[in-house]
Amino acid sequence: MKKSARRAPMIEVRHSPIHGFGVFALRRIRKGTAIIEYLGERVSHAEADARYEDKTEDDNHTFLFTVDSKTVIDGGVGGNEGRYINHGCEPNCESSVADKRIFIEAIRTIQKGEELAYDYQIGRDVDDAPNVDEIFACRCGAQNCRGSMLAPAKAPRKRRARRTAGRAKRKTH
Ligand SMILES: [Zn+2]
Repeated sequence: MKKSARRAPMIEVRHSPIHGFGVFALRRIRKGTAIIEYLGERVSHAEADARYEDKTEDDNHTFLFTVDSKTVIDGGVGGNEGRYINHGCEPNCESSVADKRIFIEAIRTIQKGEELAYDYQIGRDVDDAPNVDEIFACRCGAQNCRGSMLAPAKAPRKRRARRTAGRAKRKTH
């Protein structure tokens, strides 16, 4: 921490070719680096649902991140650059949970100028709109792009679509 904390910032937010804004590496970032904490107001699932129930179904611009069964982080309130990191199907980052906090970590070495991305694996919901994969369409350009920011279809979850924590994800190493 000592030395690296004084170094130039690792990332910046700017327009992204993938989607709206994105977060880009300002220097080389080593695999395993915790790049940023996903910050925002911590609310209950009920509060998160109430907050965004008026949004149109076509709007995927919410910044909700599920921590666990009790807590959701709303990056739209008091959030940081973490909320601008885009989804990617072949990402260079992943989210992880530690002490109920969410961190975005590099899963490989990231070169200066690269856009950061992690797999949102957004949960499916029993009452999702039929075109939910369209609403959350992915155009990340990866060869194995699955065309959707949602987790692959399986048993639907009970809650509104939002990013799920990296906890449940499999690791390759
Ligand atoms: Zn994709």
